[in-house]
Amino acid sequence: MSNGEKLATDVYIPAFGLIPNSSYIPRKYLNENGFAMVDEYLRVKGLKNVWAIGDVADIEPPQYKVTDTQSAHLAKNIILLLADKALIPYKVVARMCTRRFQLPFDMS
Ligand SMILES: Cc1cc2nc3c(=O)[nH]c(=O)nc-3n(C[C@H](O)[C@H](O)[C@H](O)COP(=O)(O)OP(=O)(O)OC[C@H]3O[C@@H](n4cnc5c(N)ncnc54)[C@H](O)[C@@H]3O)c2cc1C
Repeated sequence: MSNGEKLATDVYIPAFGLIPNSSYIPRKYLNENGFAMVDEYLRVKGLKNVWAIGDVADIEPPQYKVTDTQSAHLAKNIILLLADKALIPYKVVARMCTRRFQLPFDMS
C-alpha cells in the first residue's frame, strides 16, 4: 500500500488502463509497452505538431488528475505556439510506471 502496509491477497485485478489503447498510432512513436513517447512539452517525439496526453502518453501514470493537469498545460502551450512564443516545459508531478511499466504494487 502507499503507506507501506502490506495486504495479502490471492487475486488482484487492476482495472485502470495499464494497457494503452494505442493500436492506431504508428509503432515508431510508441515505446515497448505501447505508450506514445512524448518530450518535455507533451509533443510526440519525432513529430512537430502532434501531442499526446493522458493514459496514452508515456510520461505519467494513467490517472484522471494527471490527465487533467496535462490537458490544461497543453492548452496553454498550444496558445503560445499559435502566438509564436516559446513553449513551457511540462513538470512531471507523478512519476511512475508507464515508461518502464513497473506495477505500483508488489506481485511477489
Ligand atoms: C475502472 C477505472 C477506474 C479508474 N479510477 C480512477 C480513479 O479512481 N482515479 C483516477 O485518477 N483515475 C482513475 N481511472 C483512470 C482515468 O479514468 C483515466 O486516467 C482517464 O480517464 C484518462 O483520460 P484519457 O482522456 O487519457 O483517456 P480516456 O478517458 O480513456 O479517453 C480516451 C477516449 O478516446 C476514445 N478513443 C479511443 N480510441 C479512439 C480512436 N481510435 N478514435 C477515436 N476515439 C478513440 C475513447 O473512446 C475515449 O472516449 C480509472 C480508470 C478505470 C478504467
